[in-house]
Amino acid sequence: MKHVYTLTDLREHRLPENTKLAVLGFPIKHSASPEMHQAALDALKIDVKYVRLEIEPGSLAEGFNLMQEAGFIGCNVTIPHKLEAMECCDEVSDSVRVLGVANTIIFCDGKVLGDNTDGPGLIKALEADLGFSVEGSSILLLGAGGGAGKAIATQLAVDKCSNLYLSNRTISKIESLRSNLSQYTETSFHLISNGMNELRAIAGDVDLIINATSMGMKEEDATPFPLEALTADHKVYDAIYNPAQTPLLKAAHSLGAATANGLSMLVHQGAISFEIWTGLSPDVKLMKDAIS
Ligand code: NAP
Repeated sequence: MKHVYTLTDLREHRLPENTKLAVLGFPIKHSASPEMHQAALDALKIDVKYVRLEIEPGSLAEGFNLMQEAGFIGCNVTIPHKLEAMECCDEVSDSVRVLGVANTIIFCDGKVLGDNTDGPGLIKALEADLGFSVEGSSILLLGAGGGAGKAIATQLAVDKCSNLYLSNRTISKIESLRSNLSQYTETSFHLISNGMNELRAIAGDVDLIINATSMGMKEEDATPFPLEALTADHKVYDAIYNPAQTPLLKAAHSLGAATANGLSMLVHQGAISFEIWTGLSPDVKLMKDAIS
């Protein structure tokens, strides 16, 4: 097995026997999806291989055609392909229609179907790691205007969050997001900037703080939330999983607040994709152990 396969490998039938699932990205060598999915496939004795496919932007339609010809069940798509993937689909789920991006593709009866499992993955992660139920809660979402942030915001509204504080550096992105989400009338949306004073002012009104910004990935990053406004009563979820503990999570943990990182979101969105493709529930712990 090679670590990464290419469109040329796909064209020239140079993929391992029984390769029927893949993750597509550019670049893709860092993706942990193959290890996670292969562990679940092997445990269920499903004779299918899952590989990394590096495909250049603009070549996804050709990639999907070749995969269908080769008998693929489906694939995951990641940066930078989530928008292009949606545009290549014959049919898409409601979540893809709202978000405008797909992360899970199913090949079925000659059609390309698109779904998005990021939001549902986050909900399962909140339940599993923090025992947190979204319905009726008050949540602050930092980075709501980013790709992950939009998917999370949409799912929180679908799951009937009562008060959703949407924060983003670029406010125009959350203004358009709120227009898209206005159909979810059980949620009150509050738009705020990423300024520390504004965040401090609403800190006492929220049960859960979710970081969906990329702040915390690099050592020199500033924190996305004023740490002095954290309390032991907050629950804090950081979508970042590398590093495993961002300064935000460290500060919350040291106060005694319940915290979790984004590894569980990654695993649960993968597990939901797996269920869509196979109709079987994978062993989520096994998937997590395979990439921890
Ligand atoms: P993205 O689309 O590039 O969005 C980045 C977000 O971070 C935007 O809201 C952006 O604000 C904000 N941001 C970036 N630098 C900032 C700064 N210096 N100050 C303030 N805000 C800043 O990226 P993404 O794909 O949504 O990913 C966001 C994070 O989620 C990443 O850390 C990624 O690793 C993580 N993630 C985790 C999972 C998982 O399964 N655990 C899945 C997807 C993503 P602007 O809109 O103003 O630019």
